[in-house]
Amino acid sequence: MEVRHDAHSELAPHTVYGPVPSRRYGVTLGINLLPLGDKHCTFRCTYCQLGPEKHHSAPHEFPDLATLEREVTAALAGKPAIDALVISGNGEPTLYPQLDEALVILARLRDAHLPGRAIVVLTAGTELRRPEVRAALRRVDEVAVKLDAGTQPTFAKLDMPWQPLQLDALVAAAAQLPGVAIQTILVRGRVDNTTETEVTAWLARIQQIQPRRVDLYTLDRKPIDLALEMVPLVVAQGIAARVEALGIACRVFAGL
Ligand code: SF4
Repeated sequence: MEVRHDAHSELAPHTVYGPVPSRRYGVTLGINLLPLGDKHCTFRCTYCQLGPEKHHSAPHEFPDLATLEREVTAALAGKPAIDALVISGNGEPTLYPQLDEALVILARLRDAHLPGRAIVVLTAGTELRRPEVRAALRRVDEVAVKLDAGTQPTFAKLDMPWQPLQLDALVAAAAQLPGVAIQTILVRGRVDNTTETEVTAWLARIQQIQPRRVDLYTLDRKPIDLALEMVPLVVAQGIAARVEALGIACRVFAGL
């Protein structure tokens, strides 16, 4: 079990940004496949530090592949001292319409400029039900899927998917990704995912997925939903110990 601290991001200003320190991945180059200036996501997480999404149903202007290639080439040409390329940014990266092509470009540029550095995708997991998304994600070194709840009611209250979504389906899709990692935020207050009922149900989901690793987080700054409360570190560490008892590695990150 590992405990680390660092800062959380806000809206990404560009398609490529950084280097930025990451709690999990060291010094990273951020890749934002999403439109600039607004969030675009399949979730409306109550704790999201990007703020509310203003125009979910409006047409979105994603960066084109030529822009992506040009900006990543420029960023990597100076061989920056980074540990990983992290695809995250202003919402859900797997909404990018040409995901497979984008990942091919990123892998090629990584191999040319900084071989050996990991390419990581942080995802809500909602699009994993699409086989083409799962196939594209096999091109990267790590896919970290959000799993904030063990039960459907808590999932709905905490992550608030825009479209009706069954947690069972999300978990089943995540379980199909070999080597997937899981990321979970722990909160109390208006929504509590640390009750015994919740933790027991969540651990069963973890067992079903069999991830390579679980990363647990706690709040350390005021969330958008002011009715959420911070979970004590000792509680997070206790849950991490139960994950490790399943034979699955688990790290705890105090704070967003
Ligand atoms: S999945 Fe991430 S970007 Fe989307 S609403 Fe939740 S915290 Fe924000």
